[in-house]
Amino acid sequence: MNDIICKQKSERDFLLLEWMRSYLPKDIITQVEQTMRASPDRITSAYEELLSGYGERIDDHLSVAATYDQGSYKGYVSALKIPFSSFCMHHLLPYSGTVDVVYRPNELILGLGKIARIIGTLSKRFQIQEHLAKEIAEGMDCLTKGCGTFVSISAVHCCVCNRGPLAHGSTNVVTYATGELAEVKSQAQLANVMIGK
Ligand SMILES: [Zn+2]
Repeated sequence: MNDIICKQKSERDFLLLEWMRSYLPKDIITQVEQTMRASPDRITSAYEELLSGYGERIDDHLSVAATYDQGSYKGYVSALKIPFSSFCMHHLLPYSGTVDVVYRPNELILGLGKIARIIGTLSKRFQIQEHLAKEIAEGMDCLTKGCGTFVSISAVHCCVCNRGPLAHGSTNVVTYATGELAEVKSQAQLANVMIGK
């Protein structure tokens, strides 16, 4: 069985190479092939790691740091500038940046490190930035059963900076809010006030 798995694993990058033959010059294909022989699953292993979120669930990260009587916690909790990387679902190219999360607890407070874990699970998938923000906010609500979540994602996209518009260094910011935090008239104002930008 292990031999079969090893054989499949060793062939994966060469299957990828077959696809690349359709548009890469022959001499480049030869060079790529030579580097693949030294480590025949390097590329596909890298993609497995970058897309590892498909093998995880956000409730794997449920860890309660504190509990309160319902509605008795009157403040907000934030986790800011959490680095992430993901893949644009439109172009299958990477984008990366930081995520700011603010939520209003109800009965429980999530372990702070778990917020970064949730972002890691949801971002290591093919995602458009807008949907990633929505999934993080709704995932936080689901785990904390809180009163609302505000998410702001700032990212630099390979598909915007390195092809097409060639807008090198440009940043895309997306926000999403739920519950009480969605009732705030201006989400931009919420970002400025609550995140201190
Ligand atoms: Zn894209």
